[in-house]
This record gives sequence, C-alpha cells and structure tokens, in this order.
Amino acid sequence: MLKDKVAVVTGAGRGIGRAIAKTFAGYGAKVVVNYNGSEERANSLVAEIKEAGGEAVAYKANVADFAEAEGLIKFALEQYGRVDILVNNAGITKDNIMLGMKEEDFDQVININLKGAFNCIKHVYRPMMKQKYGRIINMSSVVGIEGNAGQINYAASKAGIIGMTKSVAKELGSRGVTANAIAPGFIKTDMTDAMSDKMKDAMLDHITVKRLGEVSDIAETAAFLASDKASYITGQVIRVDGGMSL
Ligand code: NAP
Repeated sequence: MLKDKVAVVTGAGRGIGRAIAKTFAGYGAKVVVNYNGSEERANSLVAEIKEAGGEAVAYKANVADFAEAEGLIKFALEQYGRVDILVNNAGITKDNIMLGMKEEDFDQVININLKGAFNCIKHVYRPMMKQKYGRIINMSSVVGIEGNAGQINYAASKAGIIGMTKSVAKELGSRGVTANAIAPGFIKTDMTDAMSDKMKDAMLDHITVKRLGEVSDIAETAAFLASDKASYITGQVIRVDGGMSL
C-alpha cells in the first residue's frame, strides 16, 4: 500500500507513533523514526523493521525546536531523496484545571503539540509542493473537538491542529498534497496508562464498541490516509474513538 514511499513519523519510538512507523514499514514505506528521549526504543524499532525486511532509520529531534525540526526533514531528504508522508504524532499532556495550571505547562504543550507540527510542516511544504505529491497527517484528539475539563492546554493544542490541518489542505490541495487529522479517543499507551482502573472503567461506559483503543486502530487509519487510495480525502478530521459519546 505504501511501497517505496518515504515517511517521517514524529515521536515514533513508542506509543501510537511506534505503531504507525512499524505499520508503514510493513506496507513498504521507508521510514524515518523520529524520537526525542526514547533513543533505545527508536533504535530497537529500526532493528525490528530491518529484521522484517523493511527500511528505516532513527533520528533524534525535539520537534518544538524550529532548527531541530528542519534538521529532521533535511536528514530525511538527504537519506531518501524525498518525503512523501509526514505524520505529526509527537505530543504530551500537562493536565490540570485552570486554577492549578502554570504558564509553562500551557507553553510546553502548545510548543510541542502545535508548534512542533508547524515546524515540521514548514520544512516539508516546499519539497512536497515541488514534487506535487504529499500526505500530511496530524494527530489531534477527540478532546480537540469536544474540550475536556483539566486539559485546557492540551485541548487548545489539539483544536489548533485541526485549524492548521484544514488551512494546509486548502493551501496545498491543487498541488497533489492532502492534509488530514486523526482524532483518537482513548488509546492504550504510556499517555493513558497513568489513569486508574476506576477511571478507565468509567471511560468504557461512554465507548460504544465497549473496548479501549489499540495503537493499531490508529496506525491502520494513518496508513489508509497516507496511501494513494485516500487521494480524494483532505482537510478532514477522522475520529477513531470506538463511537465515544455517540
Ligand atoms: P506517548 O505514549 O506518551 O508517546 C508520546 C510520543 O511523543 C513519544 O514517542 C515521545 O517521544 C514523543 N514526543 C514528546 N515530546 C516530543 C518532542 N519534543 N519531540 C519529539 N517527540 C516528542 O503518547 P501516545 O499516546 O502514543 O500519543 C501519540 C499522539 O497521539 C499524541 O499527539 C497524543 O496527543 C495523541 N493522542 C493520544 C491519545 C491516547 O489515548 N493515547 C488520544 C488522543 C490523541 P520520546 O519518548 O522520544 O521523547
């Protein structure tokens, strides 16, 4: 499905990003596995992909840093000659209600989740425009659509991602480049592991298909959006949430 396409996946050492990178490689893409802190896990993923006959390389960059994001995209272009797919997956939470939220908690979440995506898009924009082909997939969240008490910073970053995605889609639509956002519900990763079993059970009550999400649920959606089969889908927000709060 992605044979010989070149993909950059941010935050791909663990969690959803890792599953996306592995799935893309399984479908034939050459993958740049970006990480920030998870060097060992990024290297082990590259080894796994290669062992399975795929192609991947790891690259450290803090996507919130403009120059490091530029370095990531430049590295991908030097390594593989082009970038067909960018997945802006890197993201963090710093949850608190407004009364307890510090200014730096707001800034850090916006800088990584929203500006990080801007930084990477900024550097693939011209190459994708020139090659008249590209797939940009940005990780939003149902929280970016509906809001959530205790996540003002995170919800703002994920709502911002949606506006950014639609704007990029409009700017680049005539150049063969699509941009879409995925809005996951509750997916089992380190990010959600911190929640108590009681909270998880309460969450299950609101999920129509009565199970928590797996990283593969998101990875397969991303693979479809990244493929040529999705060339008529752009500027969309795809909820992958098991029918949460239907
Ligand atoms: P996770 O397990 O906590 O992993 C977060 C990933 O983001 C890690 O790979 C981490 O890389 C990377 N990252 C954080 N800061 C970074 C930075 N400055 N530069 C580069 N990479 C950075 O989270 P996840 O659950 O897989 O979430 C992945 C994405 O899905 C996030 O955008 C999240 O908001 C979104 N999402 C998740 C859920 C869910 O239920 N899990 C729901 C909705 C949306 P290092 O470890 O290398 O630092």
